[in-house]
Amino acid sequence: MPPVVRFAPSPTGFLHIGNVHTALFNWLFARHEGGEFRLRIENTDTSREVAEATEQIQESLRWLGLEWDGPVTFQLDRMDRCREEAHRLVAQGKAYEDEGAIRIRMPDDGTTAWDDLVRGPIEYPNEKLEDLVAIRSDGRPTYNFASPVEDWLDGITHIIRGDDHISNTPKQIRILEALGAPPPEYAHVSHILGPDGATLSKRHGSVSVEDFRAAGYIPEALTNYLALLGWSYDDRTEIMTVSELVERFTLERVGASPAVFDYQKLEHFNGVHLRALPPGEYAERLVGYLREQAYEWDEELVRRAAPLVQEKISTLAQFPGFAGFLFGEVDPDPALLDREVLERAAAALEGVEPFDAEGIEQALRALADELGTSPRRAFQPIRVAVTGSKVSPGLFESLELLGKDRALSRLASAGAVAA
Ligand code: GLU
Repeated sequence: MPPVVRFAPSPTGFLHIGNVHTALFNWLFARHEGGEFRLRIENTDTSREVAEATEQIQESLRWLGLEWDGPVTFQLDRMDRCREEAHRLVAQGKAYEDEGAIRIRMPDDGTTAWDDLVRGPIEYPNEKLEDLVAIRSDGRPTYNFASPVEDWLDGITHIIRGDDHISNTPKQIRILEALGAPPPEYAHVSHILGPDGATLSKRHGSVSVEDFRAAGYIPEALTNYLALLGWSYDDRTEIMTVSELVERFTLERVGASPAVFDYQKLEHFNGVHLRALPPGEYAERLVGYLREQAYEWDEELVRRAAPLVQEKISTLAQFPGFAGFLFGEVDPDPALLDREVLERAAAALEGVEPFDAEGIEQALRALADELGTSPRRAFQPIRVAVTGSKVSPGLFESLELLGKDRALSRLASAGAVAA
């Protein structure tokens, strides 16, 4: 029977990367096994923030490509059913009323044990399990009751979740048993630490999917990097596509020790995945990103600039710093300019027709020869004048994209302020 798993976030805010990590492991497992991945929102609280967070969770999962099967379900919709089940357990003597609440009986001796797919055998002495409140006196089901009821109703076969839920597991196993549900498998995944060894939080950098998206990361890189936090394919292979991850992912290779989030490594992965995109797709990602970030830049020019930057930047957010000179004015440092070179470059470029990279290159190389300097030295003040920076995409291509008029006017105004 194909497995059914679920991601069950509580909508408390933006989706934290630690939760995404758990969602990803569920999703990879389901896709690898040909099973189902369900999305269940544990919204037992109903404020407006929760409604927004609920939308945000779905948007983040969609953006990451972690599509779920079937409709999203909401824990709140199952409250009546939870109460009914609790009353059935009372009628069967497996639960009892206590000052208006309903408590489930837990065994007094023996142990509750399971073979965790990540951590191996875990055992709890039953004398430590208190009779669990299933329904509070105000009628609200508790998380520890609603969660296994829903797992049972949804036919969840594998519960893959954060290790902070290990201590809930013995109680939930006993509840499932009382309900008459077949026992699921459990896999408790380690949480993610920051570089300093503390649980990953805002202090360390981006933590929500939205933060990473705004910082110019792409889903291919995030899923690849997150997959390797606590899982490995062969201890060597790092860069993998989503379909390779799906093909290779197994719970047997998930380790029990916490993984450390390395932002630099993620950026490296992002660069690799960005460079691997087909050029047309790369251009569309850039356009989409800039639109999201509310840059109102000429999108045709962004598409034309894309091939100039694809090899050079490792996050989409680096594009404005690197190619922004095409879209707005520049403010070159006079100390890096050279009036004579700029004036002669302007004269040389004036006659280039058509104004394309090839013609521009010929004219500027000829100028370097005339000046008797290396192209490197001759080109530096030109680069600074037109791009405002010593580091830029290819000079000839940049000049072509800028167009003759703008190129000449930048050379002129830089020449005027040159030392
Ligand atoms: N709502 C819980 C959480 O966010 C999920 C618990 C579970 O997966 O069983 O951690």
